Amino acid sequence: MRTRDECVAADQADVLAPLKAQFSLPPGVLYLDGNSLGAKPRAADARAQAVVGEQWGQGLIRSWNSAGWFDLPARLGAKLAPLLGVPGQEVVVTDSTSLNLFKVLAAALRLQGSRRVIVSERDNFPTDLYMIEGMMDFLDRGYELRLIDEQLSLADALDDRVAAVVLSHVNYRSGAMYDMAAVSAQAHAHGALIIWDLAHAAGAVPLALAADGADFAVGCTYKYLNGGPGSPAFLWVAPRHQNAFWQPLSGWWSHKRPFAMSDRYEPAEGIRRYLCGTQPITSLALVECGLDIAAQADMAEVRRKSLALGDLFIELVRTRCAAHPLTLITPQAHVRRGSHVSFRHPEGYAVMQALIARGVIGDYREPEVLRFGLTPLYLGYADVWDAVEILREVLDTRAWDQPAFRERAAVT
Ligand SMILES: *Cc1c(COP(=O)(O)O)cnc(C)c1O
Repeated sequence: MRTRDECVAADQADVLAPLKAQFSLPPGVLYLDGNSLGAKPRAADARAQAVVGEQWGQGLIRSWNSAGWFDLPARLGAKLAPLLGVPGQEVVVTDSTSLNLFKVLAAALRLQGSRRVIVSERDNFPTDLYMIEGMMDFLDRGYELRLIDEQLSLADALDDRVAAVVLSHVNYRSGAMYDMAAVSAQAHAHGALIIWDLAHAAGAVPLALAADGADFAVGCTYKYLNGGPGSPAFLWVAPRHQNAFWQPLSGWWSHKRPFAMSDRYEPAEGIRRYLCGTQPITSLALVECGLDIAAQADMAEVRRKSLALGDLFIELVRTRCAAHPLTLITPQAHVRRGSHVSFRHPEGYAVMQALIARGVIGDYREPEVLRFGLTPLYLGYADVWDAVEILREVLDTRAWDQPAFRERAAVT
């Protein structure tokens, strides 16, 4: 697509374009940060009103049964499961990605007996590394964290002491994507278990956890799944591991009979064993609005469009912003790319602030990285065209070169 008109024509032919009407986005905003916080489904307002006004306000405590609050983690898990490529009864929506990682890592380490090495990636999202470190410190049994990076390949990191491999399927910074089947098989060949963090993958790329041999998976619902700020995360455990051990956050929601009020813990069978305690129902309920939109989209079509938007973005930056020091850090090969594209720029932070001031909302990640999320459910080709034009204007005019754009906010 070499002109804006061609982009408009592509939008008119786009089978996913009608889904945009199910989101409410503020006028004048080009939203390229759905990989960090998804846009608001229109249905969320009425759902929030129903949960707060009717279910809480009128139903009061009866709503645990009558409004289905108690079953919500499993019911939403079943709705999400097709996007992960697993049966409905194998997923729960609960707690945060960080907490869920703790649970599945604990289970994986228990399954692995005396193996004492955990492999992850230096470039992984920090919370994954921090949770692993916290687990190692807490267990105090001589665990070692081995990080793959430019010096150490996964092949070299794997040996028969590795208990678990913890990787993000799509890298939060670069957008690079692993071949889940190949990497899972590689870990298994050394007897290691594989835990996938799907925070930047779920809802963005087709997933087949069961077919690809994954052991455990966790991820966010507030990114590409449009669940709302801080909405509870999801957790999947391969059925072959589900009942092998209990996870250590063994709160009453994971009990076999929570309302027996027994003085002894007995884990529930199946994925309910991975719950902990009472959930934030207001936030959890809104997850369904995002999942209901995702269910209307053909995931193969979402992937096709996501890659096309990415190709367009990369090509427009290459041709129209050629005079500027932007370095693509996202793999161009489709099999290696998730659904966002990232560029380094020496003044990345200020450039992003100048873009945001003009309504082009992406985000900034250290070091020097401008990150642009491409969400096929509510972004079109002309949006990409317009966003790159504004980027070009910001760079050509050095509009970013102002003290106000260099001031760091708490959240970048
Ligand atoms: C966003 C993200 C998280 C966030 O975890 P929270 O517990 O929800 O704060 C975790 N892992 C990855 C890879 C992420 O991108």
